[in-house]
Amino acid sequence: MLNFLNNPEKNLVKDRGGDLSLLEVHLDRVRLNYLSLQKTLAEGTKCAAVVKSDSYGLGAVAIASELYKIGCRHFYVATFEEGMIVRKALAGEAEIYVLHGFYDAAQEEFAEYNLIPVLNSLSDIESWSSYAKTTSRKQSVVLHIDTGMNRLGLPTTEFDRLVNDVGMLSSLDVRVIMSHLACADEPDHPKNIEQLELFRRRTGQLRLPGLLSFANSAGTFLGTEYHFDQVRPGAAIYGLNPQPALQNPVRGTITLKACILQVRDANKGETVGYGASYSVSAPMKLATISVGYADGYLRSLSGVGAVYIGGQRCPVVGRVSMDAIVADVTAVMPVPHSGEWAEIIGQHQTVEDVASQAGTLGYEVLTSLGRRYTRIYSGHGT
Ligand SMILES: *Cc1c(COP(=O)(O)O)cnc(C)c1O
Repeated sequence: MLNFLNNPEKNLVKDRGGDLSLLEVHLDRVRLNYLSLQKTLAEGTKCAAVVKSDSYGLGAVAIASELYKIGCRHFYVATFEEGMIVRKALAGEAEIYVLHGFYDAAQEEFAEYNLIPVLNSLSDIESWSSYAKTTSRKQSVVLHIDTGMNRLGLPTTEFDRLVNDVGMLSSLDVRVIMSHLACADEPDHPKNIEQLELFRRRTGQLRLPGLLSFANSAGTFLGTEYHFDQVRPGAAIYGLNPQPALQNPVRGTITLKACILQVRDANKGETVGYGASYSVSAPMKLATISVGYADGYLRSLSGVGAVYIGGQRCPVVGRVSMDAIVADVTAVMPVPHSGEWAEIIGQHQTVEDVASQAGTLGYEVLTSLGRRYTRIYSGHGT
């Protein structure tokens, strides 16, 4: 037990179970977000879930299992490793697609774990086809054609060669033909419609039976013409706003809290933290809180972030250090105690609020969440 935090008056350590920081993932909200996205889809469109990067930091096993319970059968991960982890949590019926293709595992391993590679180039197609010919059945794949992102997927020249020789795909079962939008979070960006038209044209040229998949979270909100057969949201399932200029149609899914280690008085002329970047101009109360950049509390939040204690906004003063931040709690009444929680993300402050203070995206705040938090999952479905 952490005696130095013990506060006999409130017995807060006991309440907290001794945790210094806590990440709660509200699975009920994850489910609600998924279901509400599903409701916006064109008839017949399937809602896949992107669970790459450990479900954007929230925990891929918990999230994928939860979404499977409510009917999700299509999952995207970035790497083979991630796919293996998700496969262990899901029944064989779920299709798990590996966006980075088969760079990090042997072809036989894909079969062993029943994972489907995304083929991103002609050479991917060639090598997967020759593998498929050594097996007794057609091998499932996703075909990624680039329409303007220039990141992964068949570029124009390769696509044209494929169209002239679709026989290249004869030993493959193309489950999905996908492309990815570059500017979907800017609804008025002309690139959206350009990519849409190119995707239509190219998939029309190919005329393969697989599902067409084009939209990420933001793309899903561009209109039903972007939906095709399958959409691929990630961010919106986790509560990030898919269209930052509009009101968020989904709900935040995490609560992040860290505990106050110490409350201290500082006087005029003193400074706070590394680099003495903050100077105290009048007597103030400071709370040292157990979260730092090692936990993904980004260093760029130095002097601009805030936490909430007793419902009151408390600015972060001085630099964020590895394991701690210092907040100005002068205005908090009653005076906070060591052992009390400070809210980092939750009721008063969203992931996006923190991201904008840090000068980044909600995506980065979520995927930076550290390993030191005690993680709890609440609101499991049946
Ligand atoms: C990450 C990713 C998605 C999901 O994007 P969100 O913006 O999180 O919805 C969809 N498709 C591809 C190819 C991706 O890399």
